[in-house]
Amino acid sequence: MGDTFINSGFTLSLMNNLDAIRDEVVGYAFPELIRIPIELDYESIDRAFLRMLPYGEGYFIGVDTGMKDVNPNVVRGGMAHELAHIVFDLELSFIGRLIDGLRYNVSPFYKSYLEKKTDNLVLERDMGPELLVFKNYVKKTGCTMSGISVKKTKRYLKRNS
Ligand SMILES: [Zn+2]
Repeated sequence: MGDTFINSGFTLSLMNNLDAIRDEVVGYAFPELIRIPIELDYESIDRAFLRMLPYGEGYFIGVDTGMKDVNPNVVRGGMAHELAHIVFDLELSFIGRLIDGLRYNVSPFYKSYLEKKTDNLVLERDMGPELLVFKNYVKKTGCTMSGISVKKTKRYLKRNS
């Protein structure tokens, strides 16, 4: 009976705390987002791992339920990518945001350009190691990956170590 208690406590402590990870990543790499309200929750996401959307006065980042118990660096890397999307989104006007969303959805070229630009900002902000852990996780699941490839991310880290 004692074992059950210990095991359930263990499970709780292993679940990734999204608010804590957001605060940590914002503080380390995206200080310009400190005052932006960013809500988080686990949700079941089809063929993706995280998603970001405007929400209230700020944003919402959904994290796939499959990432509850993964290595926290997977969540850190994925979250850094979504936070970089928010940095670029904040630079847009209301109309600019509509056009950007439309282009992202209709043009694979624009989508690819924006995903690479987003990953590049994560690398510039010194979160390449976590981004690589996230990309390796995505690759292992067999999902198609947007943005910078695992190979190019590794090359960047080697050059800048
Ligand atoms: Zn993205």
